[in-house]
Amino acid sequence: MQINAYAAMAAKQSLAQFAYDPDNLGPWDIEVAITHCGICHSDIHLIDNDWQNSIYPLVPGHEIVGTVTQLGAQVTHLQKGDRVGIGWQRSSCMSCEWCVKGEENMCLQNETTCNGHFGGFAKVIRADGRFAFKIPVNLASENAAPLLCGGATVYSPLRLYDVKPSMRVGVIGIGGLGHLAVQFAGAFGCEVTAFSSSPDKEAEARSFGAHHFVAGSDRGALEKCVRSLDFIISTVYADLDWGAYIKMLRPHGRLCFVGAAASPITFHVFQILLTQASLSGSVIGGRPAIAEMLEFAARRNIVAKTEAVPMDQVNGAIAKVRQGKARYRMVLVNQ
Ligand SMILES: [Zn+2]
Ligand SMILES: [Zn+2]
Repeated sequence: MQINAYAAMAAKQSLAQFAYDPDNLGPWDIEVAITHCGICHSDIHLIDNDWQNSIYPLVPGHEIVGTVTQLGAQVTHLQKGDRVGIGWQRSSCMSCEWCVKGEENMCLQNETTCNGHFGGFAKVIRADGRFAFKIPVNLASENAAPLLCGGATVYSPLRLYDVKPSMRVGVIGIGGLGHLAVQFAGAFGCEVTAFSSSPDKEAEARSFGAHHFVAGSDRGALEKCVRSLDFIISTVYADLDWGAYIKMLRPHGRLCFVGAAASPITFHVFQILLTQASLSGSVIGGRPAIAEMLEFAARRNIVAKTEAVPMDQVNGAIAKVRQGKARYRMVLVNQ
C-alpha cells in the first residue's frame, strides 16, 4: 500500500505529489483516512527549514481530522469509523514523569507528526492512537481541524497559568491562533482586549468576543493599556515593542508567548520587578489539555473560522498563508 501525499523535497520549495510506503501498523497505532487538514504557520516554518531541523521529503500537516480505518492490536479506546483528530505531537515515551502527569508535550522523547514522520497533507496517516482524539459530534470537521494545534496552543496556557473569569486578558495577533484565543478567553468569562497590526480586523475581533480592540500601530491606544491586563498571550512571530506590552501587565500579571518572536527580546528587569510580573512560554498541550479543549470547544461552540480548499490546491493555500491573507485558517479537504 502506498500513501499519496504532498511533500516539500527541499527547503522553501513548492509541494509536489509524493507517495510513500507506510510503516507497519504497530500495536498502538491507528490508520486514519484524512478528510481535512489545517495549514498552521509551523508547517510553513518546517517547509522553509526556519528552525534548521526539517527533514526532507517533508509532508507537512498536523491539524488533521479523519476517519479511523485500521487499529493496532492494543487500541481499545477507538473503533473503525470513529472521527478523530491528530495534532502536532504524534507520540511520547508514555512513562517519564511528564508523560505520567499528562504533560506529554514536555517529554524529551516526544515526536512530531510531520517532521521525521509524514504528516497530514495526504490521503492517509498512520500514527499512535493514544495521540488521536475523538472529535465531538457537534463540531464540523473543517472548523475543528485547526483546534488540534491552534486551539490546543492557546487553550493550554489559559489552564496552565490558571486564568480566571475575573481576569483581563490581552491577545496579541488576531490570526489563526489569536482568533481562537479571543474566543476561549471570552468563554472563560474574561474581559478580552485584541491587539492587531491590521486595523481592519476590529469588527471580526469583536465578533469573536473581544471587548476592546487596539491597533498595534496606535501608540496612544497602547499607552492607555498600561497596567490594565492580568494575562497577555502573544501569538505573533513579529518583533514588537515588548516593553510596551510588559508595561500593560497589572501586578502579578503574565506575558505568555505561544508564537516565537523573530529576534531575541530585551527588556529592563525593573519592568517585571515592580509589578512582580512573569514572562512565560507555552507549547501545544498534553493529552488531557487537548481532550478537555475539544470538549469545552464543543460545549461553547468555539471553532476556527476557516477557508476550505481542495488538497490538490495546497500550494495556492500555502501562498495565502504566507501573504497573511488567510481568514483565519486555511483547511485542505480531500474530495
Ligand atoms: Zn501548528
Ligand atoms: Zn515521556
